[in-house]
Amino acid sequence: MGIVREDIRKITPYKAGKPIEETRRELSLRGIIKLASNENPLGVSPKALKAILKNSKGLNRYPDSNGYYLKQKLSCAFGVSPSNLVLGNGSDELIDVVIKTFVEYDENIITSATTFLEYAIIAGVNARKVVLVALKDFKYDLEGIRRVINSKTKLIFIANPNNPTGTYVNKKELDAFLNAIPKDVVVVLDEAYDTFIDVGDFPESVSYYKTRNVVLLKTFSKAYGLAGLRIGFAIANSEFCACMEKVRQPFNVNSLAQAAALASLGDRGFLRKTKKAIWAGKQYLYDSLDAMGLAYVPSVANFILVNVEKSGIEVFKKMLTRGVIVRDMQQYGLKDYIRITVGTMDENRKCINALKKAV
Ligand SMILES: *Cc1c(COP(=O)(O)O)cnc(C)c1O
Repeated sequence: MGIVREDIRKITPYKAGKPIEETRRELSLRGIIKLASNENPLGVSPKALKAILKNSKGLNRYPDSNGYYLKQKLSCAFGVSPSNLVLGNGSDELIDVVIKTFVEYDENIITSATTFLEYAIIAGVNARKVVLVALKDFKYDLEGIRRVINSKTKLIFIANPNNPTGTYVNKKELDAFLNAIPKDVVVVLDEAYDTFIDVGDFPESVSYYKTRNVVLLKTFSKAYGLAGLRIGFAIANSEFCACMEKVRQPFNVNSLAQAAALASLGDRGFLRKTKKAIWAGKQYLYDSLDAMGLAYVPSVANFILVNVEKSGIEVFKKMLTRGVIVRDMQQYGLKDYIRITVGTMDENRKCINALKKAV
């Protein structure tokens, strides 16, 4: 009985990781650390900071609607043509663009029941039907997904690695899946955490667009440390890209984001340092959790899903009072779990100390 669309009123909104500022306001704490949104703990690449300062003088102008220079650089970096790229206001926007571009109003979308929540939320906002398939051993159940595909299925979202579990679909599994599904179904591979991967059997997904209906999503929000600027990109065949370009907003990626992303791509040292810090930090967290006797899901990304054997919300709240923000997993249906983002070594130690007190 409202003026607003009924399906919009029913949507449970996305709950973001708790911001540091908000925690400071509410608890009057200092030295708060945030390990809740899988951000880069080392900050922003110095090269990106310089580019942001330099380009801020041009903020009176609209950004380059075509992202010419960034697309040039990305096309070199990934060995694709600029016509195979679409830039987005974070990959969040590209999830919306993909749904609008491909899915007819009577078609459905399939994804996992325990994955990035934005797929289902954005599908709902666009009034598209979503079919959710339970995880199997904390992994995407590709066989289960294949079984629920019907003649109305258009899009399948696979977060690889998956958030919040940190598990991944390997090349063999993905190839078998792509071979088994109908040709007119589009698979979106969301690789927000690709840079952290340290396994040999991860799919070489950049070339899939040549032979498959695959849209690859990548972002500068995680390893590249630009979450606050909002920039991501899609790689797909040029026909798909040309249509997605019609759907996105003309000035969706602001000029500072374009400049910072371009500079970050050229800062290999920053990326190397980031990976090293994450791998070492993850090992420290694994060892500490082992010592505490807490079970966790081994992760190929920069976060760990931990079974705290009691209410995850309670543990989250207790850790918060010690200035450590983690993510409770209630919205993901994992009541006894929290997700911890790997931080700097200092942050990881502080986190483990707070976790010990909380459990
Ligand atoms: C963090 C994350 C993103 C990133 O979204 P942006 O809009 O690019 O910041 C996308 N997909 C998954 C699975 C994520 O965890």
